[in-house]
Amino acid sequence: MWWNNSRKIQFQYVAYDSNKLGTYVCKYIVLSERAYKSILAETFAHGESETGGILLGHFVNGVWYIIECIDPGLVAKHSSVTFEYDENYVNHQKEVISRLYNYPLTILGIWHRHPGSMDSFSPTDLSSIDIHVSRARAGILSMLVNVDPSLRMTFYYCGKDNTLMKVPYDVGDDLIIKDIILLADDGKIQENTGARRIVNTLHQNKLPARSMPLHVHQDPIPAIREALSLKYAPVPYSNNNPHQFGVEIPPGSHFQ
Ligand SMILES: [Zn+2]
Repeated sequence: MWWNNSRKIQFQYVAYDSNKLGTYVCKYIVLSERAYKSILAETFAHGESETGGILLGHFVNGVWYIIECIDPGLVAKHSSVTFEYDENYVNHQKEVISRLYNYPLTILGIWHRHPGSMDSFSPTDLSSIDIHVSRARAGILSMLVNVDPSLRMTFYYCGKDNTLMKVPYDVGDDLIIKDIILLADDGKIQENTGARRIVNTLHQNKLPARSMPLHVHQDPIPAIREALSLKYAPVPYSNNNPHQFGVEIPPGSHFQ
């Protein structure tokens, strides 16, 4: 992100040990499997270019839980040394994703890829961090991905007192408090969207078990393979078209 900020920004890197007295509200970070894999996929999809995304979740008793990551959007700008996300897209996605959860998710921070082994922040990064921290109640996370050549993540907690502290992290859905990783039930979904009236939802299309295409104890893999085979897929997978697994939605559809 590029900001013209005339204010001199002073950040101080502090050791994790300085958190002994619980001065900082972030002691540990846990990523859901989905959030972790989203970061890997986004990184690998951009080769050597920088990319990044938005971290969504909750913090409870000093543990920051990253439940989902938002990609930077179609009109994000990527180069080998800079990256800028599409603000409109990420803010829209934040609403769309967070309302699916029992406890709607909040923005915890941002991650981005860095070239080579650079795992500290550029002056431009600090400028963005300064703006984000000033608007966040409890500071933010800013994470850097390096591929040098193994992929590694460095999480920093950026505090309201302009300190930057590396914080250890772990990955695993089983390490996350159940309530915050649970998807909302049908009523809660409506509440999350601000619906004035909660309606019942009907499930009328359930087939009796015996007429389902797959028996309960049947191995699903052969059936899935068959469904993905040429027989059903209108456009076959090919090397010329590596991202085409099926059909794309054509433009110009109208509904009334
Ligand atoms: Zn950077």
